[in-house]
Amino acid sequence: MNGLRQWWALPVDYGWNVAYARYQRALDITRVLIGVCCWLYGIAAAIALTIPGIGDSNLGRWTLWFTLGTTVPVGVAWFIGGWPSWRMSLAFVVYADVALAAVVLTVDSPSAVLPMAALFTVVGSYVVGFHGPKLVTAHHVFALVTTIALYVSAMVSDPAQGPRTNLYLVMLILVMLAAPLICHFFLMLLRRDATGAFYDPLTGMRNRRGFDAAIGALESRPGSELAVVAVVIDIDNFKSVNDRYGHEHGDAAIRLTASRILEVFPAPAISVRLGGEEFAVICADGLETVMRRSELLRTRLCARSDTAPLTASLGVAEAVVVTREIHTGVDEVLAYADQAMYQAKGLGGDRVAHYVDDSRSGRDGDTQQ
Ligand code: GH3
Ligand code: MG
Ligand code: MG
Repeated sequence: MNGLRQWWALPVDYGWNVAYARYQRALDITRVLIGVCCWLYGIAAAIALTIPGIGDSNLGRWTLWFTLGTTVPVGVAWFIGGWPSWRMSLAFVVYADVALAAVVLTVDSPSAVLPMAALFTVVGSYVVGFHGPKLVTAHHVFALVTTIALYVSAMVSDPAQGPRTNLYLVMLILVMLAAPLICHFFLMLLRRDATGAFYDPLTGMRNRRGFDAAIGALESRPGSELAVVAVVIDIDNFKSVNDRYGHEHGDAAIRLTASRILEVFPAPAISVRLGGEEFAVICADGLETVMRRSELLRTRLCARSDTAPLTASLGVAEAVVVTREIHTGVDEVLAYADQAMYQAKGLGGDRVAHYVDDSRSGRDGDTQQ
């Protein structure tokens, strides 16, 4: 029971699943496969329309034509559109489940179409791959209720085929429930561990790997270019905090710093603990806003109530990066922000420095304290 409760409460981040698949370069091939599956559903509906005794009734013909007419554009959308948002993905699952249920429940000769309920497994594979326990359960309950309704209808309309219909039902339950649920369970456990590999255990902030995955997700933003501002934050004289108060206190100070950074730069800004006492943030806001927030962060990092009040040096740089080469662009702007951070440190720390390209302006940078 406890295990079930834990499974139900497992946090599932659709965005993370998508970012992970993109990071592994598996997203485009998945999109193409789903598009092909949509068209195969359309082809199945077209074939069913030609079989005498399946689409004879008006309602049955209408649902088959509806499937044929909608799977074509939906398949095209998977081919040429980007990856869907969470809402669109949910809408796709509802569409696929309802369209399939409508077809199998309205075409004629239910005992002949009963095995077609196995097609719910295809939608189930998508749900298991990208969504969490709640949608997986909703999908399986819906598929099971539809299958049982179809089974009852087959038993009533063709009682002579009772034993065969019973056999189909048992096979369907095995195909639709056993395999996907076992896969789902192991996938969830693997996913929980994999999520950990993207976050720093001390602060809960992204580590470099998580940061790279989040930056990779920006590739799919509309437009060929993206204006980004980077902030690099390095705590001043942190070694002395460890020396004076001990390593454990140092750890607590790093955690506190991370939580203050996340407070001032919440999502969609992308924050990372680069290592040790060094952090970075990538924002898509304007330079002025980021400079203002960096200054606010500088003042917040040093609260009087802290046992060992800290100061930090912050470097800010902006650039317009090409979305197709987002990793190179972001690395470059981070390097500039790092230079500005060292400049702030060189001037005594506890300040924000803005990187200025001296080949254009002749100045090294602006600093404020
Ligand atoms: P500067 O003002 O030049 O930045 O000096 P600093 O002492 O902050 O920087 P330096 O790079 O010389 O030292 C960083 C220290 O941070 C050294 C290391 O002991 C400490 N440190 C790195 N990671 C951790 C950690 O996870 N926990 C703790 N407690 N200390 C850490
Ligand atoms: Mg430091
Ligand atoms: Mg450092």
